[in-house]
Amino acid sequence: TGGSGSRRRVLLKLSGEVFGGGKLGVDPETVRAVAEQIAATVDTVEVAIVVGGGNFFRGAELSQSGMDRSRADYMGMLGTVMNCLALQDFLEQAGVETRVQSAITMGQVAEAYIPRRAIRHLQKGRVVIFGAGAGLPYFSTDTVAAQRALEVHADEVLMAKSGVDGVYTADPHKDPTAEKLHTLSYDDALRRDIRVMDQTAMTMCKDNDLTMVVFGMEGEGNVSRAIRGEKLGTVITR
Ligand code: UDP
Repeated sequence: TGGSGSRRRVLLKLSGEVFGGGKLGVDPETVRAVAEQIAATVDTVEVAIVVGGGNFFRGAELSQSGMDRSRADYMGMLGTVMNCLALQDFLEQAGVETRVQSAITMGQVAEAYIPRRAIRHLQKGRVVIFGAGAGLPYFSTDTVAAQRALEVHADEVLMAKSGVDGVYTADPHKDPTAEKLHTLSYDDALRRDIRVMDQTAMTMCKDNDLTMVVFGMEGEGNVSRAIRGEKLGTVITR
């Protein structure tokens, strides 16, 4: 179990669409609802969070419109930090102590990413929110979720999805015969070219024997339930 303590420790990945409520920018009521679900779990679970930024910018999309890919990726990373601050605010309103750690230094709004300090925060019951991805262009926040989960010794990485509640045999929005998979191996996921998740993230989890749970945000209390260890959605293991 997580680190040296006996409490369960999880790494929750929240993609940008969770913050925007399907639109550009931040939808405060959506973020508040997620924050309240997280707050309900912190008495028993240590929670670290990696935040996406697709509700602001995606580097790959901007580069298709003619921007330099790396510069566009930095814009994408900066977007994630705004999501971190929104989540921090609503978590603190819900009575939870938090720290934001950014992979790009910006001392006025966030600590620097210091893994040992992050672990210390978790042990003290603080929620640690990781922003700015890896600080590196050409990476995704899914991959960062796997990396941070490994580095802080999380028991599981929980991938919260919007609009889909797990991994299916085909795209459930397009193919009516698509069936939900309750368990899956990383080899199968990689072989089937499952697009719900970044392949680099899956390879990293596979190589290091880290369990991933892909679940849908929409069900009542789903975020709390996943954090507490209910096997919602699809469980991917080696
Ligand atoms: N990004 C990056 N390096 C990272 C993480 C993110 O360059 O380590 C950029 C990339 O442009 C990406 C954007 O930040 O498109 C937003 O992150 P992501 O697309 O992973 O967010 P999500 O899909 O989870 O909302």
